[in-house]
Formats: sequence, structure tokens, C-alpha cells
Amino acid sequence: MQTESYASHPKKILITGGAGFIGSHLGERLLGRGYEVLCVDNYFTGSRTNIAHLMDHPRFEVLRHDVTFPLYVEVDEIYNLACPASPIHYQFDPVQTTKTSVHGAINMLGLAKRTKAKFFQASTSEVYGDPAVHPQTEAYWGNVNPIGIRSCYDEGKRCAETLCFDYNRQHNVRIKVARIFNTYGPRMHPADGRVVSNFIVQALKGEAITLYGDGSQTRAFCYVDDLVDAFVKFMEDTPDTFVGPMNLGNPGEFSIRELAEIVIELVGSRSRIEYRPLPADDPKQRRPDISLAKQTIGWEPKIALRDGLKETIAYFRKIVSQ
Ligand code: NAD
Ligand code: UDP
Ligand code: UDP
Repeated sequence: MQTESYASHPKKILITGGAGFIGSHLGERLLGRGYEVLCVDNYFTGSRTNIAHLMDHPRFEVLRHDVTFPLYVEVDEIYNLACPASPIHYQFDPVQTTKTSVHGAINMLGLAKRTKAKFFQASTSEVYGDPAVHPQTEAYWGNVNPIGIRSCYDEGKRCAETLCFDYNRQHNVRIKVARIFNTYGPRMHPADGRVVSNFIVQALKGEAITLYGDGSQTRAFCYVDDLVDAFVKFMEDTPDTFVGPMNLGNPGEFSIRELAEIVIELVGSRSRIEYRPLPADDPKQRRPDISLAKQTIGWEPKIALRDGLKETIAYFRKIVSQ
């Protein structure tokens, strides 16, 4: 018989976007801690495959639902992750992207207000836009184009942060706002369009690696297990007075060209690099200052890029036909 930390009354946790890349890892982690997990997802970018291994778990439940509509359930905590995260997906139906962030946050915060649930918001480094300050600290207000092709995501997430802070000030909803930087790992969708999955899939198939611009733009990549550690610490180990926003990411910064070279080497691929135009409003550099996370939750990522990439490559090898 399994021992559970909350054997008689497990905490009930709602994860919106729970069938997505990060959400599926979070669900797994929270089940491991003995909680009940309700996964809510409309399967826009998530999939049943991501949570197939959890389906038979007695404390796991799934509801197909779009967070832009109200949801009445009884829960103790909410992790609000529902939102497409990759540019090709969030630009597919930009109005729906803004609705998901804004109406979704209103509904889930309304739910938190009624049930007195603690609320975690998956915000993003995109609130800093194309940053004029480097590395980015939480005090920086950002440099976001309000009318560009990335704005549905960036401004939607900024507005969701505003809603969190107003529900906190006006209705005493307990909030935790995390600004997540580029995260990668197993269960990213192979056609997700983000750089790590694109490069790995291309390298495995021996196709050209599509490098946008000259590849000098930088990003800092966090392995998903490290990120999920931080989510749980932020939610559970900080007082209600500590609401964030808090940067979560790996401060190791790489140019996209360096990433391409590392992926080619680790896959052992003969793919060549093919240069493509840089998409509009593509941030030139990005790296989190994670001093706040270090001080408040004693967290910093443990998994180096090469190690995390090896795990991710092993996952894609299994699902990509060569
Ligand atoms: P993902 O696309 O794999 O997951 C998002 C999930 O939300 C999917 O399962 C999708 O089907 C679901 N969803 C989308 N719209 C919905 C709606 N209207 N109603 C219900 N479900 C809906 O992306 P991810 O990488 O797992 O991202 C999870 C969260 O973390 C997102 O909010 C994203 O903005 C944030 N984030 C991710 C990263 C990253 O690098 N992965 C960086 C910053 C922020
Ligand atoms: N809401 C929800 N589930 C709940 C409570 C509220 O989905 O359990 C939604 C509802 O659609 C509402 C929104 O959250 O419009 C905001 O709730 P709030 O209480 O802030 O506002 P009001 O109900 O006054 O519009
Ligand atoms: N990128 C690239 N080739 C690709 C996909 C992305 O060169 O096939 C670049 C993209 O232009 C950006 C960086 O990699 O500069 C990260 O892109 P991603 O979409 O993963 O994340 P974001 O731009 O949201 O940080």
C-alpha cells in the first residue's frame, strides 16, 4: 500500500493546460506528492498522449474544457498554465490566444476567489518583450510592441499578471506569479515550432537546421524538471505575502547558432545549417536574473544544457521516424 502525505484528505489541485508539455510534468510531480490532480485542457496544443501514463492513476482526472468559459469545481490550488506557448501556435488564432490569457485568467481567478484556492500563474519572460535591460530582473517593466504579431501572447500574459495582482489587492486571492523563461524537455510537441524541438527533430531526420536570422540572438534554456521543482517550491514554501513576480529559468545563455551546433554534435547528425529570415519582433537577447528565486526559495537549475538535451534527444529518437 502506497504511503501518502495527505492520505485521508489529499489536496485537490487544478492544472489548466495540464495536457501540455510543462503541465504534464507538473501533474506527474503533484501526483507523486500525494495530491489529487484535475487536469483541464482543450487539447489545442496538448495531447492525451502526454498524460496517457497518468490516466489510470486513482488521483488523476481529466476534463476537456476551454478556460475562456467559466468552470465550477472545488479545488484547493490552481496552476494556470493554459495558453499556447509557441509562436506558430499562438499566432494561429491570435484573438483566441488573448482570450485564453485574459478571459482564462478572469475565470480561473474568479474560481480561486470563490473557493479560496491559492493561484499560480504561468507568466513568461515575454512580458519583457525585446528587452533593453540585460539580464532581466523582475523590476524591469519591459519593452513590448502592443500591436505586433507577438502581442497577442505578450500583452495577454501582461494583462493576466495585472488581473492576478488586482484579484490579490481587491479580493485577497493568494497569488504566485512566475515569469518562465525558455523551457525544454521530453513531451515538447515535435511540430511545436520552438527552437529546441525544431533543431532536434531536424537533426534526427538529417534535414537542414533552420536558423532564423544570423543566429547571434540569445536565449537561456531551462530543463523542465528544474522548472517544475521551482513551481512547487514557490507555491508551497513561500508565505502568502510573497506573490512575485519571480523569474524562473536557467541563466546559462547561448546564441541560437551555438545551440544548433550543440544539437548537431549530440545527435551525431550530418545536417547542415540553413539560414532563414528572422521573424518580426524576435527578441535579440534574453537571460533571466534569478537572484530572487535563489534568495526566496533557494532554487537554481541543476541540469546543464547538454545533459537536458541528451534526455530530450532520447525522447525524440523514440517518436521521430528517421
Ligand atoms: P503547451 O502548448 O505544451 O501547453 C499549453 C496547454 O494549454 C496545452 O495543453 C493546450 O492544449 C492548453 N490550452 C491552450 N489554450 C487553452 C484553452 N483555451 N483552454 C484550455 N486549455 C488550453 O505549452 P507549455 O510549454 O507547456 O506552456 C505551458 C505554460 O507555460 C503556458 O502558459 C506558457 O505560456 C507558459 N510558458 C512556457 C514557456 C516554455 O518555454 N515552455 C516559457 C514561458 C511561459
Ligand atoms: N468563475 C468561474 N468559476 C467560479 C467562479 C467564477 O469560472 O467558480 C468565473 C465567472 O465566469 C466570473 C469570473 O470567473 O465571471 C470572474 O469571477 P468574479 O467573482 O471575479 O466576478 P463576477 O462573478 O462578479 O463576474
Ligand atoms: N529559432 C530558429 N529556428 C527555429 C525556431 C526558432 O532559429 O527553427 C529562433 C527564433 O527566431 C528565436 C529563438 O530561436 O530567436 C527561440 O525561438 P523559440 O520560438 O523557441 O522561442 P522564443 O522566441 O519565444 O524565445
